[in-house]
Amino acid sequence: MSSTAIVWFRRDLRVHDHPALTAALAEADVVIPVFVFDEALLGGKWPAPNRVWFMRESVAALAGELQARGAGLRVLHGKPADVIPALAAETGAADVFVTRDATPYGRRRDRAVEDALTARSTGFHARTGLYVHEPDALANKDDRPFSVFGGFKRAWDAAPRRALLTAPAAIPGDGRPADPIPDVAPPTADRALMPTPGEPAARARLAAWIGAGDGDPVGDYAANRDRLDLARTSRLSQDLRFGLVSPLEVVARAEGDGDGRRVFVSEVAWREFYAHIMWHHPRVATEAYQPAFRDLPVRDDPAALQAWQEGQTGYPVVDAAMRQLLATGFMHNRARMIAASFLTKHLLLDRHLGEAHFMAHLTDGDLASNNGGWQWTASTGTDPQPYFRVFNPVLQGQRHDPEGDYVRRWVPELRGVATGRIHDPWLMSAAEQAAAGCRIGIDYPAPIVDHAEARARALAVYGEAKANATA
Ligand SMILES: Cc1cc2nc3c(=O)[nH]c(=O)nc-3n(C[C@H](O)[C@H](O)[C@H](O)COP(=O)(O)OP(=O)(O)OC[C@H]3O[C@@H](n4cnc5c(N)ncnc54)[C@H](O)[C@@H]3O)c2cc1C
Repeated sequence: MSSTAIVWFRRDLRVHDHPALTAALAEADVVIPVFVFDEALLGGKWPAPNRVWFMRESVAALAGELQARGAGLRVLHGKPADVIPALAAETGAADVFVTRDATPYGRRRDRAVEDALTARSTGFHARTGLYVHEPDALANKDDRPFSVFGGFKRAWDAAPRRALLTAPAAIPGDGRPADPIPDVAPPTADRALMPTPGEPAARARLAAWIGAGDGDPVGDYAANRDRLDLARTSRLSQDLRFGLVSPLEVVARAEGDGDGRRVFVSEVAWREFYAHIMWHHPRVATEAYQPAFRDLPVRDDPAALQAWQEGQTGYPVVDAAMRQLLATGFMHNRARMIAASFLTKHLLLDRHLGEAHFMAHLTDGDLASNNGGWQWTASTGTDPQPYFRVFNPVLQGQRHDPEGDYVRRWVPELRGVATGRIHDPWLMSAAEQAAAGCRIGIDYPAPIVDHAEARARALAVYGEAKANATA
């Protein structure tokens, strides 16, 4: 008697190195792939047209990969706990295979689906695939979660890994043609400046990043990764976010000699560290990881928030970062740190407002990585450094955008400004402003806060919060 299995795709929109798909093919004669347009993800807490559009296009690319192998993608709409069991009933599937999801929403959703399937005697099987090591797989010597990256990374390096899987040559479907994929709203970013969605494009990005022999970009990663103007990072974050490439494959291909490869692999491990933190402490989604900063006072200043969001703070590197985000749905990692530090320390605004703005625009927006990055920068998270670190936007700009090309790319008002003043244009004399075609306060804003004053204010507020917590 022939048996049927469902493979329900979510953040794993690929056919290469896909344990759930491989397991389904080993178990069943007929495999029905399905994707659910889940209203909770399309709108939900973090509505994000860039991400939804990228996901929609990646689902379309997946449908093409599946069809080429013999299976039509079923596309369902509604609550997974309703529509997945209904599909199992309709097709007579005995089993549903998924890639294990670690997000708080994904865990709740999967529990509900598993309960509904178990009630009708259908198997629910979650396989690994979104991490090299699952967020709950590693523990310290006291069998507790890690709280700093160093120890986590040592355990991550030492833990055994599963074998990489190849893409199946054929997927025996049920003969039904693929369902149409619904249209979604266009991205708010410029589509021409966004990465091409879908697994084939992501694999091409991976291949270009980790080339063979000398001169492959990953080899220079340690030296160049912080350079805002050069943009020499992998640009794989949205691909890892939607599972267009498997992190195990990325790491397996990247590992090798040299600082570039070592540091790159370590950055991929940061993604898993933050997933580990979110798994063990889901409270960090709404509160500071460090108890001392749970009640950190924040200012209410809608005008400052708006200036930050629109890239009108008067600090060129901050404004370039924020405008890059709006235009492309992406922001360089160093720029994310500078922009997040500016919101939380210089402006003393609520970290959650920044986090939400990033999630609204980032194509790679991921609850755990975004939250980890914001808490790290705001000094409320796992970073063992004290809160005294307040990024100086002028020095950061001079160090990581030495010629000012990043600023000129995203802040056209400053294109005529000489390199020596590109990161502190308010210091230009009237004659220099005239020569640059940029009048401060008219063509480009004067700084909305003074760095030294803002730094002192932040240190006082953080210091008081810390003292109150230890009193
Ligand atoms: C405030 C803030 C918010 C952030 N929000 C997100 C987010 O929502 N989604 C997201 O994927 N990354 C986030 N990051 C991490 C990082 O900025 C991006 O992963 C990186 O810029 C993506 O570019 P890339 O793919 O070229 O990275 P590369 O430098 O090439 O790194 C390779 C991969 O490692 C992972 N990675 C690298 N750095 C980090 C890090 N610090 N934390 C977690 N993972 C990392 C990413 O998956 C990335 O694709 C955030 C960082 C900060 C400071």
